[in-house]
Amino acid sequence: MIVEMRNGAPKDEIDAVTDKARSLGLNVQLNLGTDKVVVALLGSNTGLIPTDQFAVLPGVESVTRIMKPYKLASREFKRADTIVSVGGIDIGTNRIVIMAGPCAVESEEQLTEAARVVKTSGASILRGGAFKPRTSPFSFQGLKKSGLELLDKTRKSFGLPVITEVVDAHDVDMMSDYVDILQVGSRNMQNYSLLTHLGKTRRPVLLKRGFACTITEWLTAADYLLSEGNEQVILCERGIRTFEDSTRFSLDISSIPVIKKASHLPLVVDPSHAAGHYSLVPALAKAAIAAGADGLLIEMHPDPRKALVDGIQSLSPSDFIRLMEELKPVAAAVGRTL
Ligand code: PEP
Ligand code: MN
Repeated sequence: MIVEMRNGAPKDEIDAVTDKARSLGLNVQLNLGTDKVVVALLGSNTGLIPTDQFAVLPGVESVTRIMKPYKLASREFKRADTIVSVGGIDIGTNRIVIMAGPCAVESEEQLTEAARVVKTSGASILRGGAFKPRTSPFSFQGLKKSGLELLDKTRKSFGLPVITEVVDAHDVDMMSDYVDILQVGSRNMQNYSLLTHLGKTRRPVLLKRGFACTITEWLTAADYLLSEGNEQVILCERGIRTFEDSTRFSLDISSIPVIKKASHLPLVVDPSHAAGHYSLVPALAKAAIAAGADGLLIEMHPDPRKALVDGIQSLSPSDFIRLMEELKPVAAAVGRTL
């Protein structure tokens, strides 16, 4: 349930609402806007409590029952777009943010070359996996700690923020020293203990959509991060599993306008894992920008033929640089900059 206070409601009126909520066994989260305060009442039994219990209190402008299971990620709770700031880069503004780099960190040379291409092409964030959650335990699992050390070294020498995937709740604090954004992979979107740990950090988190999850489940998972107090949450659409097998996953373009309407959180799109083939990535990247995405997460490898992971869907440096140019008029056509 969302309680909207009148403009300038004094503290005692807000306290009356929060006291009432707590007396009913509800948790409370406040959104302190510039003009007005919005109070989210959280609890499994909010559906059973009459809205009048709050509507009658002084200073309450409206009480809205939210039938959707997600609350804090909703536009009802926060109308204004959330902007996530990472090392001077704002995600969720008019400017589209491009994150790119190899699927996995493989060596210093590989990461340095990827960072050089990211930097010179005008992209803003370097990606690279150090812990790789692979379908088979016999596949390359990533360089782990030494991969993190390479990400840290590279971000310092290039002045580029870095993003990497975290797979274990116990690693969250340790990894926060090495990277700027912690990525939750598709397979972990519903790993609630990982999400709870990430909610307690103040590091930005990029939450990928589970490939078999609905938008509602995805936004409800985002509430796990937000309810622990971490407001630096970025969503990432990366394709879902459908009956169609001509691509690795089906990029759900519709999720972009749906999310932009339903949630205040910034949304980036990963065309690489959806496409599964480098030749399809540019078209999906352009479609994502045209549909309203706030950014892209793209796999790019200095030499895709030698990549240890996901080479087939990785763009070469020259293809990536070309795509960066091709994205500019698409962004301009929808009133955005790159
Ligand atoms: C990745 O970004 O390298 C990755 C493993 O993606 P996903 O979790 O979307 O499969
Ligand atoms: Mn990958």
